[in-house]
Amino acid sequence: MSGFKDKVVLVTGGSRGIGRACAVAFAKAGASTVVISYAGNEAAANETVGMLQAAGAKAEAVKFDVADTAAGASAIDTVVKTHGRLDVLVNNAGVAVDGLVMRMKDEDWDKQLDTNLKGAFALIRAASRPMMKQRGGAIINITSVVGEMGNGGQAAYSASKAGLIGLTKSVARELASRNIRVNAVSPGFIGTDMTSYLSDELRQKMVDGIPLGRLGNAEEVAGAVLFLAGDAASYITGEVLKVNGGMYM
Ligand code: NAP
Repeated sequence: MSGFKDKVVLVTGGSRGIGRACAVAFAKAGASTVVISYAGNEAAANETVGMLQAAGAKAEAVKFDVADTAAGASAIDTVVKTHGRLDVLVNNAGVAVDGLVMRMKDEDWDKQLDTNLKGAFALIRAASRPMMKQRGGAIINITSVVGEMGNGGQAAYSASKAGLIGLTKSVARELASRNIRVNAVSPGFIGTDMTSYLSDELRQKMVDGIPLGRLGNAEEVAGAVLFLAGDAASYITGEVLKVNGGMYM
């Protein structure tokens, strides 16, 4: 498949989980260059780079905290200078710090909002300039079912992910005239490190509320991301595509 031939793709949080699956899917779909970012897990990032190279892509891993807006802008700048363009940005990096609002510390609130929402904003701001010059691009933000339906114990996470939906729709309107499409993918419960802490009991309770009767896997989310990034979605912008096994319709 060569749908992404000559395309340069940046996936944040590509060292593990959903981000890794997205990066590998782009490489397998023929993207010439796939850059992943990570926060600190260098071994996992290097492993992803190996997988991308094995799939035939030029690959590189860059370390920066997406909550650091200057670092994000500089990373986008370097990608464009090094690889000549940026066609697809996937804002996937995210964190969840669970806890009830009445006990939540300011720093836990800030960490989730800064990483999940402000980070995406800063990278979109930085990517929009080169994409406008190219008169084309695709941005996909990874939100969450929790941003759509709320979840006790995840108020900050939910607020950050709901914010991403508003950001997606607003930027989609701002950039549409330049042929830049901005969409979101909203996963349900996906089997990654982020959900590995769940007890068997809690996991079963979750599964009981999912019509398809199981957790999703990262590759199933990557499929939706690839669809929205590619030509098959050329008339889709401002959309939130649910990948949740039917748990929220
Ligand atoms: P994960 O396995 O925990 O991986 C998180 C990724 O984000 C890692 O690559 C991590 O880098 C990176 N990261 C975390 N904080 C960062 C920061 N401050 N700066 C830069 N990179 C950072 O998570 P996942 O389950 O794949 O989730 C990926 C995205 O999907 C997140 O936005 C998450 O909210 C969303 N999502 C997940 C689920 C689910 O059920 N798993 C459901 C809905 C939405 P390191 O490897 O260096 O730590």
